[in-house]
Amino acid sequence: MADLSTLGRRIRHFRTESGLTLDQVSEATGTAPSHLSLIENGRREPRLSLLESIAAALGVTAATLLDPAPPSPRAALEIELEHAQAAPAYQELGLPQLRPSRSMTDETLRTIVGLHRELDRRARQSIATPEQARQANTQQRLEMRAVDNYLPEIELLAQQATARVGHTGGALTHRTVTQMADDVGLTIVHTDDLPHSARCVVDMERGRIYIPPASIPGGHGLRSLTLQAIAHQVLEHRPPADYAAFLRQRREASYYAAACLMPRDASVAFLTEAKRDRNIAIEDLRDAFGVTHEAAALRFTNLATEHLGLTLHYLRVNGDGTVTGAYENDGLPLPLDATGSTEGEVVCRYWSARRAFERRTRTTEHYQYTDTPAGTFFESTQTGTGTPDDFSITLGVPYGESKWFRGRETQLRASSTCPDVACCRRPEDGLAERWEGKGWASPRVRSHLFAPLPHGTYPGVDDRELYEFLETHAGLEA
Ligand SMILES: [Zn+2]
Repeated sequence: MADLSTLGRRIRHFRTESGLTLDQVSEATGTAPSHLSLIENGRREPRLSLLESIAAALGVTAATLLDPAPPSPRAALEIELEHAQAAPAYQELGLPQLRPSRSMTDETLRTIVGLHRELDRRARQSIATPEQARQANTQQRLEMRAVDNYLPEIELLAQQATARVGHTGGALTHRTVTQMADDVGLTIVHTDDLPHSARCVVDMERGRIYIPPASIPGGHGLRSLTLQAIAHQVLEHRPPADYAAFLRQRREASYYAAACLMPRDASVAFLTEAKRDRNIAIEDLRDAFGVTHEAAALRFTNLATEHLGLTLHYLRVNGDGTVTGAYENDGLPLPLDATGSTEGEVVCRYWSARRAFERRTRTTEHYQYTDTPAGTFFESTQTGTGTPDDFSITLGVPYGESKWFRGRETQLRASSTCPDVACCRRPEDGLAERWEGKGWASPRVRSHLFAPLPHGTYPGVDDRELYEFLETHAGLEA
């Protein structure tokens, strides 16, 4: 049976269609016009006997009046508006209830209903605020710390996948990545019209991975991109329900890609030998597997504790000193905000991660010992040029473990007492007095590390763009 609002509208619809006034129907049914009006407005429920006399007066059956369908497109909009305004999300706004008068055009009504639909969609969507995103990020760092940044199940899957295509060392070629995709029933298609918001797209129906053209600068990242797309399939990832799930999936996919580029057994063998020679260097691991310095350093953090018995820290720091990536299980006192988040915080200016920027020659790694309130660490840092910022990649270990590393004979030593503000943030004596109130600077706008993600089934990816892309390409031959 129809709800009262629909029933009332159906009665009014058939009444106006039959050209009758409220008064005429009132007379025919022996009911006060005011009561009929309340019924038409959905505020009163008519008894069945009254409903039957109304139907008779209008020349239709009671069943017709009780049909749950809105009597017209206009009425459908009016009913939807009524329901939307009754919803808690709208009530919370404290705005007045809008009654669609007859003078309100269909266009106006459609616009208002459209806004309500979008409000509702947004209310239902799990939207990560910057605060939630930071918390999820911190949670992830702590989770990975608890397992020494090592995920055995994914190691095993990657080990099996690389063994099947015979990748047991050296650089993983594009050709082999193609075979690995093939191995799980996926075809790689290069295209230059990917949705702006997507790094790559998978058509699961046709088994295609769409990635940018192989010829783009720095194209070696494409191997990792493709492997990550494969990983999402192998690991059976579904659209993530929230930001934390999104981060977890991305972490797992990156891990899988790294474990394919640098397979566990080959990497551990390589590093074990380097350790035996007391000559561990991230640059060597990088060169042995043909990956970026960042990828090699991150991969080292996966394997070092589990397989080499080393604790360590990893830092990715921008030219302005802000952390864009960090991991530690050696007690390095990372800069943290009140919520325990380190991303976006500024590291001590005496740490290797920032001192390395001061060097003229950046072709080799920068080595230094850093004293901190949590002990002395040996650190090696490589700087790189990126967009929009220069960045540095640091791998550090407690002093006692420096004996396994290249560069340990460095004479560079720095002393840091951060987070004590006297370390490197409080102005030196006299400077504050000298300049207080006499200087002004415009802040640099930091990249929005944790801007809320745009809405979409896949966080950050525009649904319409994605589906239009898939539709277009589904029709093209691979
Ligand atoms: Zn400091």
